[in-house]
Amino acid sequence: MSVYLIPKGTILSLDKIRRGFLWGGAAGEKKINWVKWEQVCKGKKQGGLGVKDLRKFNIALLGKWWGRIVMEDKGLWKKVIAEKYGRVGEPSFNWLRENMNFGSSWWRDLSRLNDIDQEKKGWLVDGLELKLGEGVDISFWWDKWSGDGCLANKYPRLYLLSTGKDYKISQMGGWHNDIWKWSLQWRRSLFSWEEHQELELLKEINEKTIARGRPDQRIWIYSKDGCYTTKSAYQILAAEHRNSQQRLALQKVWNPLIPSKISAFSWQLLQGKIPTKDNLMKRGVIQDPGECRCELCGAGEENSSHLFVQCKVARDLWTACYKWWGIKTVTDRDCWRFFEQHSSMLETVGVKQGWECIWFVVIWTIWLARNEKLFRGKEVDSGRLFELVQIRAFSWIKGKRRGCFFSIADWIQNPANCLSINRNSRRYLKRKPPEMEMEL
Ligand SMILES: [Zn+2]
Repeated sequence: MSVYLIPKGTILSLDKIRRGFLWGGAAGEKKINWVKWEQVCKGKKQGGLGVKDLRKFNIALLGKWWGRIVMEDKGLWKKVIAEKYGRVGEPSFNWLRENMNFGSSWWRDLSRLNDIDQEKKGWLVDGLELKLGEGVDISFWWDKWSGDGCLANKYPRLYLLSTGKDYKISQMGGWHNDIWKWSLQWRRSLFSWEEHQELELLKEINEKTIARGRPDQRIWIYSKDGCYTTKSAYQILAAEHRNSQQRLALQKVWNPLIPSKISAFSWQLLQGKIPTKDNLMKRGVIQDPGECRCELCGAGEENSSHLFVQCKVARDLWTACYKWWGIKTVTDRDCWRFFEQHSSMLETVGVKQGWECIWFVVIWTIWLARNEKLFRGKEVDSGRLFELVQIRAFSWIKGKRRGCFFSIADWIQNPANCLSINRNSRRYLKRKPPEMEMEL
């Protein structure tokens, strides 16, 4: 994976196996892929599950070779490559710009790398910054050393007229009494409009300082130490420009106080992609509309907004929770907006994260109760559900947050207070929490 580009067909086959694993299908068995694979492969900050996109990862790994060739010191292996393929050590990365259809398949893969990702064309060259020293290693016309883009593209007319199209910066002028002077040479005298361009060019390059005796540096702008890393390259390839509302909300499911299994479930739920009966009907698993009734109340169709927000059982549970936390509110009927609304109800530092955790506890508790009823015929007791929410939240928060010394009794009495007390306070340690036998 770090030497060759994997063929697209191979990646498709591998992804098929990975999809099967994610959605729980055994060998040969077809399972529903609830969320698009493309979405699954996005990073958590981009609203995905953070599963690696193999193609992009493969490109990022191969990029390491590019990083070594372009940025590392001149080792023997680099000399061998330059001998074989030529031009490698010359204008730092020109070899990437020209499509090289010769050499080994490794070399050809490498020279295509810069433009291989349709959405991120030019990503490698864009990530390289040149720090101008004495200008011995930097191509005057082709390297990006002065502002955005290279000078050949910014001043195409002058480039055509230049007598030093392949010159390094150091060859485009000279030192006179320790002062650098540019001497740009043209094939013929310039017309007045070209002279005007020459003045602009001189103005631009005069802002740069040529430092005598200091080597030029090549820096990968996406990592702290300026070296190419696979991780930073992958992040660039996987990053999305869109900063949608949905993406921001989906990030919130990775609440550090809750188990990752619940985060993944909520991630699926907020996209309307969990196996509620309406979804199963859309996919042809359920055929009779009569079977779409809500398990908990028996009235209304089971979809995510009904099950988690509008259903009487859900509403009673939410009301009990708000009362417990001392919050007065009217909830939105839509599951998605409700999630956003819930999070914004309490903004107190130190308490907010715990309050957000409650949302996950409630939906998970409802989902388990629904499954118990559906698959085991177990009746739902609203009061019991609320107790479960309290205990489950207590156990998640105690398990994940350091320095929580409150007891279950304190928690039930005043949860916000428990979360806002000084974390180092040990006065709550004296009381021992009751033994719990249920599975949370
Ligand atoms: Zn219902």
